[in-house]
Amino acid sequence: MADRRKLAAGNWKMNGTADTLGMVETLAGAHGEARSELLICPPATLVHRLAGAVAGTSIAVGGQDCHWEETGAHTGDVSAAMLADAGASHVILGHSERRADHGETDAIVRAKTQAAWAAGLTAIVCVGETLAEREASNTIDIIGGQLAGSLPDQATGLNLVVAYEPVWAIGTGKVATADQIGEVHDEIRRRLEKRFGAGVGRSVRLLYGGSVKPDNAAEIFAVENVDGALIGGASLKADDFGGIIAALDAA
Ligand code: PEP
Repeated sequence: MADRRKLAAGNWKMNGTADTLGMVETLAGAHGEARSELLICPPATLVHRLAGAVAGTSIAVGGQDCHWEETGAHTGDVSAAMLADAGASHVILGHSERRADHGETDAIVRAKTQAAWAAGLTAIVCVGETLAEREASNTIDIIGGQLAGSLPDQATGLNLVVAYEPVWAIGTGKVATADQIGEVHDEIRRRLEKRFGAGVGRSVRLLYGGSVKPDNAAEIFAVENVDGALIGGASLKADDFGGIIAALDAA
């Protein structure tokens, strides 16, 4: 089995101002020695400040989205090169909230992933089915289609992380069962191996996301092919994020 370092990635979404950065100090103090890789993706306004605040700690900083072009007439957008310039090393792409709120298609996510790679960022590409799609037994087809359409050909274990986030489990308190997570993660692994070859396919880390909390984290992290989590709400509280990191370290 490939040696994949576990990753705990926090997605602050549209939450956080300068005073939120205090919790990162608490987190770094308690988990600076974590075995797992730690990443926080704050809103774009905080990327630069957070990068300064975590300098010298083991916490990395990521963006939550980027444009597919490097510069240009795109009012309100931020490019991958700008995120890198502000101190980010990662960027979340294709989150279901962006797919739903901003009409992002797989082709757009693919173009953004390419832009992220061109800027030297690791892309965390999100896939996931809605409740209606799951109830219609379409989960595997939906995930397969999103992977095929969203991932460019030049994937490596360093430039790509895939996050499986069932839409119905995000911010709802509903968590997919271990069996549901295992089935999808195994399928994602198989598809990555088939498309990119065994070496790359086995080295890409697969995160689960959707209402991960300290009290359900250990069960999720025990599932084969779960290499960590993308964490929304719980990543805003040092105790909760810390509890999840501890569970990941112990897995
Ligand atoms: C997310 O936004 O990626 C997420 C998983 O959110 P939550 O943990 O709040 O469900």
